[in-house]
Amino acid sequence: MRNLEIKEEGQKYVMNTYGRLPLAVVRGKGAYVWDADGKEYLDFVSGIAVNNVGHCHPKVVEAIANQAETLLHCSNLYWIESQVKLAKILVENSDFDKVFFCNSGAEANEGAVKLARKYAKQHWGEDKYEIITMKKSFHGRTLATLTATGQEKFHKGFEPLPQGFSYVPFNDLEALEKAIGPHTCAVMLEPVQGEGGVLPGEDAFIKGVRKICDEKDLLFIVDEVQCGLGRTGKLFAYQHYGVEPDIMTLAKALGGGAPIGAMLAKEKVAAGFKPGDHASTFGGNPLVTAAGVAALNVILEEDLVHNAEVMGEYLMCKLEGLKKKFNFIKEIRGKGLLLGMECAKEVSGIIEACLEKGLLLINAGPNVLRFIPPLNITFEQVDRAAVILEEALAAS
Ligand SMILES: *Cc1c(COP(=O)(O)O)cnc(C)c1O
Repeated sequence: MRNLEIKEEGQKYVMNTYGRLPLAVVRGKGAYVWDADGKEYLDFVSGIAVNNVGHCHPKVVEAIANQAETLLHCSNLYWIESQVKLAKILVENSDFDKVFFCNSGAEANEGAVKLARKYAKQHWGEDKYEIITMKKSFHGRTLATLTATGQEKFHKGFEPLPQGFSYVPFNDLEALEKAIGPHTCAVMLEPVQGEGGVLPGEDAFIKGVRKICDEKDLLFIVDEVQCGLGRTGKLFAYQHYGVEPDIMTLAKALGGGAPIGAMLAKEKVAAGFKPGDHASTFGGNPLVTAAGVAALNVILEEDLVHNAEVMGEYLMCKLEGLKKKFNFIKEIRGKGLLLGMECAKEVSGIIEACLEKGLLLINAGPNVLRFIPPLNITFEQVDRAAVILEEALAAS
């Protein structure tokens, strides 16, 4: 089928929950994808920070093929070898001790909320349940995680919302201190906000959150679903700040394209869960954890974290150069290969013009262009993207 046919059948049969661009991506290799009409695109979206190792990385493809032939699924009633391996790699490369696997970012955050409440009730009292999150945050689309999300547009129409969440402006320690009440049990944030507009946490803020959490007996939860796994030029974004959170959530890039999420915690906090407290049928199943082991090994062995730092700086320079040429560009910000270009106008037209010219881009809110290419992107590919973007900006 061609783009148009797929689109028309999709409109007929698939629920209308996404504002989709008029193409079907049918094949990918590295930083390139092809649509159903055979057109090639340079991919600076990466499935929204999923394809950190590029599309169809041979090591990930091989691991999935081998696992599919051996054992596709196994219940968590039994030990799963690739799940144990993935947990071990995550623990050995982070500051956490235990891992729970699930299927998505939202589900990882649900798990974090449940663990924080369970732990807080055991250690600090039955009335500890409230979690403070940040305005402009994004934590997922389940009822609890859309409530945790500090943006009203995600709440509207889904009331009544679950209780026990409150919001403060990001990077505002004073507001956070004021918001802490008798029921507060945790603070949850993205070290670099993604959907909210590519907003990095300030050093003093993130360090301050850790200090306040220690002083007030609160858990510090980082949502690294988008900014984790090498994206920002560190394996985990919290590592930029010299702090150790209590709980971290991952998903997007963890399976190299396979759907998997994870919630990691310090030993003491993880002990809040006992058998029966939390579970997932597919969570950490053989297929997706085999993909995860391969993807994480690629990130580590091919030094993609360092490449994200180097290429991030290079892309940042290119974008700063464009800012000098176009006065509607207000700010370039972000860390590593999670970069944003804030404009004084809506960016949807620029995204469509780039698409036309063979470059996939995504926004982060109406006025911010977001740049999230695979972490193994090359200088030549960044150069090509910058040329296409400049043409699109000039025509906008
Ligand atoms: C994408 C995202 C989520 C939700 O992940 P899903 O896999 O779509 O449920 C949660 N938090 C952050 C920071 C995200 O970027």
